[in-house]
Parts: sequence; C-alpha cells; structure tokens
Amino acid sequence: MTDSNTMVQREQLLTASQQLTAWGLNKGTSGNVSVRTQQGFLVTPSGMAVEAMDAASMVHMQWDGTAEVGKKPSSEWRFHRDILQAQPNANAVVHTHSTFATTLACLRKRIPAFHYMIAIAGGDSIECADYALFGSQALSDNALQALAERKACLLANHGMIATGRDLPHALSVALEVENLAEQYCLALQVGEPVLLTGDEMRAVFAQFKGYANWD
Ligand code: 13P
Ligand code: ZN
Repeated sequence: MTDSNTMVQREQLLTASQQLTAWGLNKGTSGNVSVRTQQGFLVTPSGMAVEAMDAASMVHMQWDGTAEVGKKPSSEWRFHRDILQAQPNANAVVHTHSTFATTLACLRKRIPAFHYMIAIAGGDSIECADYALFGSQALSDNALQALAERKACLLANHGMIATGRDLPHALSVALEVENLAEQYCLALQVGEPVLLTGDEMRAVFAQFKGYANWD
C-alpha cells in the first residue's frame, strides 16, 4: 500500500485523533483510532501523544497483522483488526480512556437503558467486556463478545470502544457514549435511575430510523 493511496485517510485519522483530544476524550498517549482501507486498515502509532503525530505517523496494516515496515502500530491493533473483520458495516474504530466511560468500566458496570440515547450504540444497553490485559488477543476476544450487535462497549478497568460507518460516525458514537456514561454516573449518585422498558426502547428504535444519521 503506497502512501499516495492512503494519504487522504492518513490525514483523516490524524484529524480524528486530534478531535478526540480536543473533546477531552483522550489525553497523552491513551486511546487509538483505526480506519478501513482498500487492502487492510490504518491505525494510529503506539505510545505517541497526539501532539507529536503527523499523517506519516499512521501505520498501515494487513489483515494478517503485518505492519508497514519501520513503524510500530497501536498495541491494540488486534481488536481494531478483529472488529473491522467481524463487522463489515464498521469502517472505523475509536478507543478512548475517557473519564466517565472508564469510571463505569472500573466498576465493571454496563450501561442499561436509563436514557433513550443508548439506542445510538445499537441496542438497549452498552455492555462491559470482561477484563483482559491491554494489547492482548484475549482483550480483543472479550471486546468482540461485548460488541455483538452493538456499536460500542466498555472495557473493564480500561476504557471504551466505539465503531461507525466512517470516522465522523465513530467519533460521534464515542462522544455520545461518554456523554451517556457521565449522565449515568451522576444519576447513580442521586438515586436509582428508572430504566426504559423493552416496548419503550422499541419505540425509540422506530423513531430513530433516519434520525440524525445514527444508523
Ligand atoms: P497505544 O499507544 O499502543 O495505542 O496504546 C494506548 C492504549 O490505549 C492501550 O490500550
Ligand atoms: Zn487503551
């Protein structure tokens, strides 16, 4: 994969990483982002603060895990690859250590249907994947399980993952998941959130068809 084929996508991956930092969803070297290409995927480099990245820092990878020569891909390239392979409609994956999603993940709590906007993640809950070491195949396996039929999940004692049809969509899902996590944390402090019923959530999904391009 030559640079000229992926240059636009490298720039888009850089912009997406910068956006996550600007929103406060990632800080320092936490988190990573990927996007599907014609022959594999591009992922952010490992252990590099966003401020130090440029488009050329992005690492192209093939499905067999081979990385562009001389570059170190994100330690989480396995879950980026496995999600992109398992979810043909997902073309971008965002991983953050954002504060409120991570707070719930450290309590190993899932987010139930306490607010109708949970629908943007594709179901009536956002599940929390079982704990596994960062960068491990086990973490990828656990994440895939929690992401079944979903666009987002929490990662126990770690953070969250959001997917989308493209980078802007995946960024929007990540931002809204963090927003929901903050609201759920606050609601839990005040009392016991009242959950929407299955029927109420079915009505939300019907209302969501064609609304704000969340599908
Ligand atoms: P990388 O810098 O290797 O992408 O790691 C950051 C991270 O969030 C690991 O889970
Ligand atoms: Zn992480």
